[in-house]
Amino acid sequence: MRTQVVIIGSGPSGLLLGQLLTNAGIDNVILERSSKEHVLSRVRAGVLEQGTVGLMDEAGVGARMHAEGLPHDGFSLAFDGRDHRIDLFELTGGKRVMVYGQTELTHDLMDRRTALGTPTAYEAVNVTPQDFESQSPYVTYEKDGVSHRIDCDFIAGCDGFHGASRKAVPAAAIRTFEKVYPFGWLGILADVPPVNDELIYANHPRGFALCSMRSHTRSRYYIQCSLDEKIEDWSDDRFWDEIRRRLPAHHAEAMVTGPSFEKSIAPLRSFVAEPMRFGRMFLVGDAAHIVPPTGAKGLNLAASDVHYLFAGLLEHYQDRSNAGIDAYSSRALARVWKAVRFSWWMTTMLHRFPETSDFDQKIQEAELDYLTHSRAAETVLAENYVGLPY
Ligand SMILES: Cc1cc2nc3c(=O)[nH]c(=O)nc-3n(C[C@H](O)[C@H](O)[C@H](O)COP(=O)(O)OP(=O)(O)OC[C@H]3O[C@@H](n4cnc5c(N)ncnc54)[C@H](O)[C@@H]3O)c2cc1C
Repeated sequence: MRTQVVIIGSGPSGLLLGQLLTNAGIDNVILERSSKEHVLSRVRAGVLEQGTVGLMDEAGVGARMHAEGLPHDGFSLAFDGRDHRIDLFELTGGKRVMVYGQTELTHDLMDRRTALGTPTAYEAVNVTPQDFESQSPYVTYEKDGVSHRIDCDFIAGCDGFHGASRKAVPAAAIRTFEKVYPFGWLGILADVPPVNDELIYANHPRGFALCSMRSHTRSRYYIQCSLDEKIEDWSDDRFWDEIRRRLPAHHAEAMVTGPSFEKSIAPLRSFVAEPMRFGRMFLVGDAAHIVPPTGAKGLNLAASDVHYLFAGLLEHYQDRSNAGIDAYSSRALARVWKAVRFSWWMTTMLHRFPETSDFDQKIQEAELDYLTHSRAAETVLAENYVGLPY
């Protein structure tokens, strides 16, 4: 079999790239390790930058997102028993974010792909990018016990942090940068109305808390936890008691609780692999970089990578120019590092670190106080949160 672009992975980056390529008449095949149901069951991101919203529209799959998503013009920083609202809309001259679950975005993209009959192999095992430094790359995989080979022009490694694409690169050709944080996030999903119309990011002596949502009736809440916590030790009651302790009293009292239907612990890390292009293979999204979820940047960075790669591939096929694909890695990384910096900064400002000295604690408090008294500081936060321009 032959196609123009083989995409490894059907997460948001693979599906979005696939849809943009299909719309432009560029043939592509997606190879995904898991089942469709498994991919759809993963509860992850929920805050979309305007650029990501724009790409969903460009892909022609934005209708349900606009009908059901929740545009947010601001969020709250809670600390020292009080709330401070960051007015994103006003500070950025009219920009906002969209609360729309990653699961829903994935659903919209998958449904369109299925409706168009664009080829996708789910439960493809041993997917291996081959000869990507040559002019004739190909990908091998097995499905239902049968071996397959797809020859192609390009390979897009959209297979997440644990995928096969980055692992296929010789160690001498890649450089990685990593920071692992000494805590995790314990998150739940519950069908209860959110405690606030907008997100609340809380810094508290007991640790960070985030009140987020998926809809007017579904809440997504997180608390900072130690890395050796076990999920089975966290009953719903214990979780609700703990998050209420970390919020200002008026939010704690207003919080509606109920049974959770998803509960998990996620470690936090920052990770970047450089470069993001190896001959005719490109790394895209979590395959190349990971950020802690504090700044809501992971899915949005996957989307901006797709923007740069799609522009480069379009230029290659329509204008016979390789300028865009040659510039892909440096253009994507310039934006990636700014988002890595922002996510690290938000994480550092809002969490309690196990080894924090009294001095470090005072610095953190001064930073939060500065943010709430300086329009310039608020503007820096706001312009990064809504997403830097592509
Ligand atoms: C708890 C949590 C909260 C988050 N919150 C936010 C948020 O608010 N905002 C935000 O922007 N981001 C957030 N993120 C990050 C976001 O979910 C990821 O950045 C996003 O999923 C990246 O998309 P991707 O397509 O690059 O990778 P993935 O979503 O990881 O998709 C990769 C796909 O490749 C498949 N795959 C893996 N290996 C192989 C293989 N060998 N062969 C074939 N297929 C393979 C996987 O099964 C998967 O379907 C959050 C993440 C977590 C864990």
